Amino acid sequence: MGVQVFKFGGTSVAAAERIRRVVALVREEPGRRVVVVSALGGVTDQLLDATRAALERTGEHRTWLARLQARHEEALASLVLPEEQKTVRAALAERWQELAELLDGVYLLRECTQRTRAAIIGTGERLSAPLVAAAFRAEGIGATALDATKLIRTDTTFGEAVVDFKTTNQLVQSGFQTFFNQTEETHVAVVTGFIAATEHGVMTTLGRSGSDYTATILGSALKADRVVIWTDVDGVLSADPRMVHEAFPLHHLSYREAAEMAYFGAKVLHPRTMRPVETHGIPIVIKNTLNPQAPGTIVNDETVPTERRVKAVSTIRDVAVVMIEGRGLLGVPGTAARTFDALGDHNINVLLIAQASSEQSICLVVRQEDAAGAVAALSHAFQRELDHGDVSRIYPVEDCAIVSVVGDLMRHEPGLAGRMFAALGRSKVNVLAIAQGAAETNISAVVAGHDARQAVDVLHEAFPLRRTRAHLCLIGTGVVGKTLIEIMQRQVPRLLDELRMNLRLVGISNSRQMRWDTNGIALDTALADLDAHGEPADLDALVEHLKTSKLERILVIDATASTAVARRYPELLERGIGIVTPNKRANTQDMDFYRRLREAEDRREVSYRYEATVMAGLPVVLTLRDLLRSGDTIERIEGVFSGTLAYIFGQLATGATFSDVVREAKAKGYTEPDPRDDLSGEDVARKLLILARETGLEIERTDVSVESLVPPEMMDLSVADFMDQLGDLDAAWTERIAAAQQEGKRLQYVGRVEDGRCQVGVQAIALDSPFARLQGTDNAVLFTSERYRNTPLVVQGPGAGPHVTAAGILADLIKAAQLMP
Ligand code: ADP
Ligand code: ASP
Ligand code: MG
Repeated sequence: MGVQVFKFGGTSVAAAERIRRVVALVREEPGRRVVVVSALGGVTDQLLDATRAALERTGEHRTWLARLQARHEEALASLVLPEEQKTVRAALAERWQELAELLDGVYLLRECTQRTRAAIIGTGERLSAPLVAAAFRAEGIGATALDATKLIRTDTTFGEAVVDFKTTNQLVQSGFQTFFNQTEETHVAVVTGFIAATEHGVMTTLGRSGSDYTATILGSALKADRVVIWTDVDGVLSADPRMVHEAFPLHHLSYREAAEMAYFGAKVLHPRTMRPVETHGIPIVIKNTLNPQAPGTIVNDETVPTERRVKAVSTIRDVAVVMIEGRGLLGVPGTAARTFDALGDHNINVLLIAQASSEQSICLVVRQEDAAGAVAALSHAFQRELDHGDVSRIYPVEDCAIVSVVGDLMRHEPGLAGRMFAALGRSKVNVLAIAQGAAETNISAVVAGHDARQAVDVLHEAFPLRRTRAHLCLIGTGVVGKTLIEIMQRQVPRLLDELRMNLRLVGISNSRQMRWDTNGIALDTALADLDAHGEPADLDALVEHLKTSKLERILVIDATASTAVARRYPELLERGIGIVTPNKRANTQDMDFYRRLREAEDRREVSYRYEATVMAGLPVVLTLRDLLRSGDTIERIEGVFSGTLAYIFGQLATGATFSDVVREAKAKGYTEPDPRDDLSGEDVARKLLILARETGLEIERTDVSVESLVPPEMMDLSVADFMDQLGDLDAAWTERIAAAQQEGKRLQYVGRVEDGRCQVGVQAIALDSPFARLQGTDNAVLFTSERYRNTPLVVQGPGAGPHVTAAGILADLIKAAQLMP
């Protein structure tokens, strides 16, 4: 194992307890460990505040300083071994002394050069590194704090210094050579992030968020195995999580993608982070200190052809557009170069240059604070053109934002810029200019600042997350509904990860209570919250919520067996609301209703899915549809559709008596509470009707002939009486079974659709029939068709139970959500 570099950002070292976590994480790692630390979270900003206070002479800079000192002292007292505290405190005291002098200097002189500012704000890291090193020692791990001003050499652009890699590599290599020679392999180097020094040893900084850069500068010089950037999110996400709710971690990025994202505003990485390691192919891994189990993001030199074209959306706010307008500019060579020169001379960084929507202007994007300077510099540079009228105007448009979509594979997809425009246009975001990077890894649009959030959200939805936020309303919280919620708790995060699909529960109801919350209902507490905070259930009100909601992609899950709920399907479908259900009631109403249902589905192109109505999660409806749609002709459908009856007839074949078997099945929970619900054949009849209608038959429930196993006179008894009198049926069954056995057959309860007729009842079947070999409560269906004539297509397996039913519903939900526009 070679060297590993770990960088911990401000949030990861914000306080003593976080720093202990850092120690614990690094302790697990093998080999040589170099730790780069930022200032304690927020300290750099506070040092800037203190500088401002000094400069403005508010008299508060000392107060700021005292506050910072107290915070560090608190961490020190908690982290550092008692016997070490004095030395560490003394080391920090020097820093406080320097800081006080610097700030007083600013106060007195009423000026703050870039050099002074760098010296002030870079102190944050010089304060954190000794604390973190001491925290390692307190846990029995040898550690030394190293000051990066001795390792990283830069020019004198103090706030955003440019690294001299040749010297830096030598300094780092020789510095660490000595360090490694003098210490054991387990000894940790804790290096200050963010800061560096000029050749004269004057402190510079690498720009805000510069500690990421420090880590890869060291990683590259030391030819590290990898650089791990520990932060407070699960890696680089598809968008800023503070702006986009559905932002999700990206498992892999190329160096270029990561660099583009960082350049265009993804704060998680300093834009230059990728540069030092890129040429050596050293991977960067971004991980979450607060959730180390998450895989994080790996950045390396691969472009994976199977990855998505657009990977992420990012934004830079607080920018201004500088417009240079004029006919005389068109096609004049060197205009761009002159523009850059003019701005470069004034140290103004051009973030983006674009053709504006009108063809006669060039449009540059600069930071807001540079806008006035840029206009002045350009007016000066183009004075002659302005005088001659070749340039008519140079002016700023303030308060803008750049929104960018990033992905290496975008170049393979023409028309992305158009799609971007269209998506923004649909949501009424006005685009001032658009630009595509030369490497075609990004497309950027300039929009008004107040549109930025909306733009990012829309683009995130239009590209990486296309069509995948669906809003769910669950009706019915019986055993199937509950199980569905359980499965979803596990699967929803995975679906978000793997399919970019966010299934969000917004409504839930049972027969007693309901809740509707368009902000989303947490799955883990959905049922408890329904009990605790639900309003009284009211189907009309719920349907009203659904129909009037502005949410897109709503799916209702009807996990009831209620006709009242089923009757509402057509009006929901008419509103473009999808339905997924195991409830057989809707598809088994009269043909008029059935037609309305299918027409609504058809007209609105909205998903109505009911796979779980027949044999739970087994793909029965799907198989039948596929056969029909692929041009097959169905000749016969036969099936054992009732697990209860399959079990009963299986036991009867082994010689048990009818009454014993039914009692046993009831005791085992295989029957409905009233076993007559199964024995009447009604449930099987409904399933058969659903399949028959699927094939195009226009029939009513009453057209299905059903053999009930319950004599009419026993239908009105109480359950208890019925169970008592079951024995009366035994003799007849014994006789029927014996007769079948004589023919070398056994009995089974079968549903059949053939020649336009539907029949449900007991049949004597050959012992080698697939229906004779069913295990336990398994179901099976056979499709005999033109294509599958000699050997029918068989779907077989457990056809009931909360888990397979809920799984069938979820599978339908996913398909429905994917298909919704
Ligand atoms: P650190 O202190 O670890 O350097 P930063 O605050 O600099 O952390 O960067 C992490 C933060 O960046 C996240 O908490 C998140 O709010 C923000 N961020 C913005 N865009 C993204 C993105 N695309 N992916 C991940 N985080 C992002
Ligand atoms: N502390 C510095 C900043 O806040 C550097 C860093 O955290 O990376 O910008
Ligand atoms: Mg950072």
